[in-house]
Amino acid sequence: MKTTVQQSRRVERQVIGKETSDGAGVRLTRVLTGDLQQRLDPFLMLDAFGSDNPDDYIAGFPDHPHRGFETITYMLAGRMLHKDSAGNQGLLENGGMQWMTAGRGVIHSEIPQQEEGVMEGFQLWLNLPAKDKMQAPWYRDFAAAELPRVKVGAGGTAIVLAGESHGVTGAVTREATAPLYLDLHLPAGDQFAQPLAADLNAFVYVYRGAVIIAGETVPAGRMAILANEGDGVTIKATEDARLILVAGRPLGEPIAQHGPFVMNTQEEIQQAFADYRAGRLG
Ligand code: FE
Repeated sequence: MKTTVQQSRRVERQVIGKETSDGAGVRLTRVLTGDLQQRLDPFLMLDAFGSDNPDDYIAGFPDHPHRGFETITYMLAGRMLHKDSAGNQGLLENGGMQWMTAGRGVIHSEIPQQEEGVMEGFQLWLNLPAKDKMQAPWYRDFAAAELPRVKVGAGGTAIVLAGESHGVTGAVTREATAPLYLDLHLPAGDQFAQPLAADLNAFVYVYRGAVIIAGETVPAGRMAILANEGDGVTIKATEDARLILVAGRPLGEPIAQHGPFVMNTQEEIQQAFADYRAGRLG
């Protein structure tokens, strides 16, 4: 298996997310916004949250529906309880990941189980191919210790949430979109290489320190969209750095989104609302 990169992707564009709130008033940064859905197909959204002020997160996300895609919540710090209409329940905490396939529909809640302290993490939305949008819902949560890890560079670590890196297969794999989701911890001066086919859409989001990719510095709080070129990406930490690297195969299908429903046509969106109102969704 290939673990080296001859020609790294360059940074096509850096993005500063938009400050917003969602759920019952959770403050977050929407890093991957609707206008980037085509460019970063199959990914639909990335939210970064991080605060030590309970007012920013305490209200959580009460019952709400989803249809047509998958949500991947990675909790760096904090405790959040998930319950859904498919009968799943799980406590997501420090370093754990929850992967939920909404498929034809779930109604779920995500409620903090802490009244103080830091809550920090990410929620990524991964689209489903048209043929799978109405599949049965699926859910799994993984404690930090259950997530595969691999040593990289001279002293770094890659946590393999999805896909495959340096011979280690991640917690979840998906055939249609071949998602790669890595959490990289790189000490200053360390270099990490990840082979990536050029047709995969890919980005990084740096959440600590800073890195250099093909000569361009990407600081904390920035997403860098990686150009579709070369045979992978080489990332060098200029200081102790933590970042996520996300890549996937584009579906190339129409995206129709209204809030928590992501389908291919407006008719399907209207059907989702009708099903939700009629109690047929979750
Ligand atoms: Fe949700």
